[in-house]
Amino acid sequence: MKEPSTIWRLLSELKREAKMAICISCDNEYSDKRRKLGYKTCLECGGKAAKKEAAFRAKCTAPAYNKGCYMYVASKRMAKDVGR
Ligand SMILES: [Zn+2]
Repeated sequence: MKEPSTIWRLLSELKREAKMAICISCDNEYSDKRRKLGYKTCLECGGKAAKKEAAFRAKCTAPAYNKGCYMYVASKRMAKDVGR
């Protein structure tokens, strides 16, 4: 026999599953589960955005990495100079 609280929790979970969120990009309904994950768009729009973001990241990662690398070298050299 299940405890009443367990049943209530299951019911509220089912209700939450059924509730649909609205995509801010195309006004279509999408899974509320997806909204809980932090997405404000439907799967289709989210996929498009993810592709765009991936391309944007691929463009920007290399220079950012190089800069970080350069800064590391520079600060290491500075530390050496200070030590002298
Ligand atoms: Zn959408």
